[in-house]
Amino acid sequence: MGPEEGSIFLERRINMNDYLVKSIDKTKNLRLLTITAKGVVGEAQKRHDLWSASAAVLGRTLVGSLLLAGAELTDKEELTVRLLGNGPVGPTIVTATADLGVKGYVKNPHIALPPKKDGHINVKKAVGQGWLEVTKDLGLKQPYTGQVPIVSGEIAEDFAYYLTKSEQIPSAVGLSVFVNPNNSIGEAGGFMLQALPGASDALITETIKRIKALPALSSSFLDGMTPEDLARKILGTDCKILEKDDVAFKCDCSKEKYAGILETLKSSELKAMIDQDHGAELTCNFCGNKYNYTEDELKAILAKKHDEKDY
Ligand SMILES: [Zn+2]
Repeated sequence: MGPEEGSIFLERRINMNDYLVKSIDKTKNLRLLTITAKGVVGEAQKRHDLWSASAAVLGRTLVGSLLLAGAELTDKEELTVRLLGNGPVGPTIVTATADLGVKGYVKNPHIALPPKKDGHINVKKAVGQGWLEVTKDLGLKQPYTGQVPIVSGEIAEDFAYYLTKSEQIPSAVGLSVFVNPNNSIGEAGGFMLQALPGASDALITETIKRIKALPALSSSFLDGMTPEDLARKILGTDCKILEKDDVAFKCDCSKEKYAGILETLKSSELKAMIDQDHGAELTCNFCGNKYNYTEDELKAILAKKHDEKDY
């Protein structure tokens, strides 16, 4: 196999993956993150059996959370985004880590709504009114929580409002999820632009103009636009690509972890599971994995609980 074939293979392999790109404009005053995440949102859609409106809401929140994690986290840090609207989809919870793993769920996965006049999913209606809350666990004693009202419900604007208002970082955010008629995910991606303190008004105005002139993100992604392409469209062709990182749907749950949660139940509740149900099945909210505990396993958890109390 010649080097050309090798590079074609590599290109294809990368194109199939989800990844996030960090870039900076030529004046080094605008920081941009762009992402393609069809695999991540597709995995969430399958695991939670999401219908269109639920898929759009969770998908956009997953993509936005990955962008925020890419912009702000290092080492073992993680953040949790809670989109607490009163719309039919209900609360949406997403956790993203510094290594760009993400997991999340919506309270009501089976929501589909009549489309808007332009044919798009009515995300605003699906979300409703309420609060966007971001909790960052930076390894300090107290996690930091910032909260803003949901100003739009389209989610991208809400992330931008959160960054601008709560973190004082002037930002623009775009998020897109394309849901196929059979509820599978056709495309997902987005961007997060942050103005650094040195950015001039003229530079910001010019860049916002370029963003407003962009064609719809979802159709561009469907046409094969890459995060690098999107970075050049927003920052100009003379921007610098700094970094490219894989992103993935990841949940850290395990049978042991949920056994720990069972241990925190009252002894009477554990006894009821043993005597009446003869076992227990727990489902992870974030990823849908199921964990089964036999009567004997529950008895061992109950015994451990008593040991600790005696101690
Ligand atoms: Zn899980």
